[in-house]
This record gives sequence, C-alpha cells and structure tokens, in this order.
Amino acid sequence: MDFKLKHSINQQVSLVKEMDVELFIKREDKIHPFVSGNKYRKLKYNLIEAREKGFETLLTFGGAFSNHIAAVASAGNLLGFKTIGVIRGEELEDKILENETLNFAKQNGMQFKFVSREDYRNKTSEAFFSALKKEFGGFYLIPEGGTNALAIKGCEEILTVTDRAFDYICCAVGTGGTISGLINCSKLSQQVLGFPALKGDFLQQDISKFVTSANWDLINNYHFGGYAKINEELVTFINQFKKSNNIPLDPVYTGKMMFGIFDLIHKGYFKKGSRILAIHTGGLQGIKGMNSVLKNKNLSIIE
Ligand SMILES: *Cc1c(COP(=O)(O)O)cnc(C)c1O
Repeated sequence: MDFKLKHSINQQVSLVKEMDVELFIKREDKIHPFVSGNKYRKLKYNLIEAREKGFETLLTFGGAFSNHIAAVASAGNLLGFKTIGVIRGEELEDKILENETLNFAKQNGMQFKFVSREDYRNKTSEAFFSALKKEFGGFYLIPEGGTNALAIKGCEEILTVTDRAFDYICCAVGTGGTISGLINCSKLSQQVLGFPALKGDFLQQDISKFVTSANWDLINNYHFGGYAKINEELVTFINQFKKSNNIPLDPVYTGKMMFGIFDLIHKGYFKKGSRILAIHTGGLQGIKGMNSVLKNKNLSIIE
C-alpha cells in the first residue's frame, strides 16, 4: 500500500432521456481492493502521521459491520501496524467467525476489545481512554468512523480539476468527514449534497465545524429508518441499479444515496441540464454481512 495521489474514474449512469440531467459516479470503491473508497482517503494522512510519530499500534472503534474497522485492519496489516478494534456489543465476542467484517479484520491481525453499549457510548471519556492506555500501552487513536482533521484533508483529494464541470456533488454521510472534504475542495458555484445514512440532527453542526463555505445541504429523507436499516424497496433498487449499470452499491451508504438521487431526479429537484457527480464511497465489504441478516429473515438478498 502506498500513498501516492490516486484518482478514480467517473462512470456515466444510465438514466431515462426525458430527465434532462446527466449523472456520473466516481468509482472510489475501486481505489483499493480492501481499503476502499472514503476509508482510504480518511486513513491516508492519519497513517502517514502515525508512522512519522513512530507509533506501532493503531486503535479505533466500530460496530459489527463497520467498513472503517475492516479498512483499519487491512491498512494496518499492509503497512505493518498492530491494530486494535474496540467493538460495540459484548455478545459479538463469540460470533467473530460468523461475522464477515470481524472475521476479515481478525484475518488481518486485528485484536478486539468487545465492550457493552453503555461503555461504548462513553468511549470518548478521559476515564475510558486511560483504561485503554493501561491495557494496550501507547497507540495512535483513530476516532469512530475515522473522522478528524487529517481525514478531511484526505477527502479533499477526491475531486479533480475536471470535476469542476459538475453542478452537483453528492455523497453519503455517516460522521460527516467525507462531505466536509468535498465541500472544502468544491467550487462555490457547485452544490454539495449529503445523504445521511442515519437519523442525526447533530450532523449539520458537526459538518459546519470543518467547513467554511455554505454551498452544501443535507437531504434527510433517505435514511430508511436509521443506520443499517433497509427494506425490500432498497434491495430491489440496488439489484436493479447493478443490472443496468454493472455497478454494485452497498446497502448502508451508497445504495441509499443513489436511491435518493434517483428519487430527486424524478421529482425534478435538479435544474434542467444539470451535471451531477455522485461519489461511490465504497463499503462493498458490508454486503455479505447484510445478506446474512436478510437470509435469516427470509428476505431477498443483494445480488
Ligand atoms: C464510512 C462510510 C461513509 C460515511 O463517511 P463519513 O465520512 O463518516 O460521513 C460513506 N460511505 C461509505 C461506503 C462508508 O463506508
């Protein structure tokens, strides 16, 4: 794994002609086989910093299907860092092998610490941090979801000069780091639209802290009930989209964003003749885990 500046291709998405807008998707999911999409961008400058400061261990936080946990485990393995994942949910301790994401992280050498939901909520407290330090010694701390100033700096490298020809830049939103980087590297005449993958009133404020311009908005109607919540309609859309464009979408982030973009196009939200660029932030490792859940409920799966 190296940190040379990488650029991914923009692929056109097929739309009905009458819609009179053009839609492209930036294939950041293809940027690395395991550290894909925005997680590569967000880790880049953090890992350079960790290496420069002489850290041997990375410690971070995440849930059972976290793309971030998978990315940190893989990047750590490739770059020679030890990795520790503090995982939400004590019950998962016995289920590592059944859980695709945790199993992948383990294969990449990640050591886990499973904590209760209550402890997990307090993970940013001073007491929790000292306990971790006592247990694991020194480590480079990467916050949940990987968002910090260095992560945003990495996300400022997603757009290229030719992307200035787009009127709208769209991305999925979790903690808001990725959209912050996109806003910072967009032109003021471009509108950056975020599609939160969860219900979160805090996002508007969190993002405001990292950006200086106002050419952005959050579209809050497409979270499908909350983080990692999905329904039949979304699964059908993801499968249909893949059939038409040969592009896979993940169910937690990019599927919801693209569903939202299509719905807004149909409702005439975008100006006639607009050129829209959607960022494929990756996350495809999460499909297997979601499919296990869907199978258990006898629902149709993501193909
Ligand atoms: C983590 C993730 C996001 C959310 O990124 P934030 O910077 O936390 O907003 C979006 N898409 C995918 C695929 C992700 O894995």
